[in-house]
Amino acid sequence: MGLDDRDALQTLRAAVDADMVGRLYTRWFATDMSARDLFPPDLAHQRDNFAHALTWLLSELIAQHADEPVAFLAQLGRDHRKYGVTAAHYQSLATALLGTLRAELPGSWDARVAEAAADVVQLLTGVMGGAAEAEPGLPYHDGTVVDHIRVTRDVSMIRLQLDHPLDYHPGQYLTVQVPQWPRRWRYLSPSIPADPGGAIEFHVRSVSGGMVSTAIVGETRPGDRWRLSNPHGALHVDRDDGDVLMVAGSTGLAPLRALIMDLCRYGVNPRVHLFFGGRFPCDLYDLRTLWEIASTNPWLSVTPVSEFATDPPWAADYPDVQPPRGLHVRQNGLLPAVVTRYGGWGDRQILVCGGPGMVTATTTALIAKGAPPERIQHDPLH
Ligand SMILES: Cc1cc2nc3c(=O)[nH]c(=O)nc-3n(C[C@H](O)[C@H](O)[C@H](O)COP(=O)(O)OP(=O)(O)OC[C@H]3O[C@@H](n4cnc5c(N)ncnc54)[C@H](O)[C@@H]3O)c2cc1C
Repeated sequence: MGLDDRDALQTLRAAVDADMVGRLYTRWFATDMSARDLFPPDLAHQRDNFAHALTWLLSELIAQHADEPVAFLAQLGRDHRKYGVTAAHYQSLATALLGTLRAELPGSWDARVAEAAADVVQLLTGVMGGAAEAEPGLPYHDGTVVDHIRVTRDVSMIRLQLDHPLDYHPGQYLTVQVPQWPRRWRYLSPSIPADPGGAIEFHVRSVSGGMVSTAIVGETRPGDRWRLSNPHGALHVDRDDGDVLMVAGSTGLAPLRALIMDLCRYGVNPRVHLFFGGRFPCDLYDLRTLWEIASTNPWLSVTPVSEFATDPPWAADYPDVQPPRGLHVRQNGLLPAVVTRYGGWGDRQILVCGGPGMVTATTTALIAKGAPPERIQHDPLH
């Protein structure tokens, strides 16, 4: 029975929550102290994520879906190489997970549940460990910060020189570890296409109360060593699938800019209309680059959008980001309202990038105006 035993799998799923994962970590770290060093000091986020992933895995197995879980676990295993996870860690995790499940289910642990639990644990650690071992590429990519440009009060452009060039598709994202916060990996999207010489650039907005983004914007210095994961994500432009609408909120511009820069390699492209939004006019930090691209690439139109019509007084301390003449006139309002003022964009490939609130509000507004959901792409809203 094992993985075919839906009742036993349901029993296991009922045992999983963040508290149970907390007890799993306690058991695991007690038997393998080296595993503790893989994680940040505060485990709350990690506990929630692992509980969520385990519940999802069990739900997929109950529905007798195997392909997606295996692909997900293999990707997770390949990605976990960046933390320094070894085959020995998978073994100690397997023992701790099986022991925890057994301890959580004293009343219902029988031969069938035990068999299903052993199979689930074997699938999880076996696929992750196997995929990690089979992956030939580097587990992570180190690089040195060569430039930090503070483009607005809360946005920085950080340029790095990687020790070895990193290949990725424009529009993809990766996770980054900075020296100010070891083991606190955060997602960032390169703002330029992959460079064979190893240059890479990120745009980072300091989120109010945010741990890593405030440190990056406030403290990054040339010479800092960053560690990058391998790339993820599938945001893309299909050059044969019609015209394109792009909507960027703040540093959500980064992956769209990489896609636009990549399109510049071609003489003929679908029309691309980019709405780039910020709170104040001074937040629209990269209009000059966009203007330079649009001035020589007639397929690109750029509409700057700001929530407020005028700048606050502190804007005087930062570079002048007023759009050069030649871009569309700046629109005032929130991105979802401004973008849908032009219609539903139902005939376009639509790419939306920015904070989770902006992405949700913009996609909801577009769908309400008739845009087909399957034509809308955005990154996961972690
Ligand atoms: C696929 C992906 C790609 C990303 N690319 C970029 C990028 O290129 N540039 C960039 O600046 N950021 C990007 N982010 C966001 C980034 O990964 C971090 O979430 C963000 O920098 C906050 O991290 P923190 O450690 O400062 O905040 P945390 O300490 O993790 O969180 C503090 C608080 O801020 C809130 N918060 C987290 N993220 C946001 C957000 N984006 N907007 C508003 N509130 C938030 C949290 O809910 C929490 O309440 C991306 C996120 C994803 C999922």
